[in-house]
Amino acid sequence: MCRNELSIDYLGNVYDCDFNQMENIPAQTNKIEKITVAKLLEANSLDIIEQVQTANYCYGCTAGCGSSCSGSLI
Ligand code: SF4
Repeated sequence: MCRNELSIDYLGNVYDCDFNQMENIPAQTNKIEKITVAKLLEANSLDIIEQVQTANYCYGCTAGCGSSCSGSLI
């Protein structure tokens, strides 16, 4: 999911995926600022998301079949 989709909460905060949203790990700029829909619209680009935030549950995704999003970083 984090490679081609985003999760957005009701306050407009942007997350790389729904797992990160549930863990409250927001997408960040290279200046470590939380990304919101307003910031994305202002930048007019998704490139302000510097890197995907990861955690242990990503292993379930990178395995390709462990989690509901079934994404894969590698
Ligand atoms: S690999 Fe990690 S960041 Fe990417 S979708 Fe899966 S849980 Fe989210």
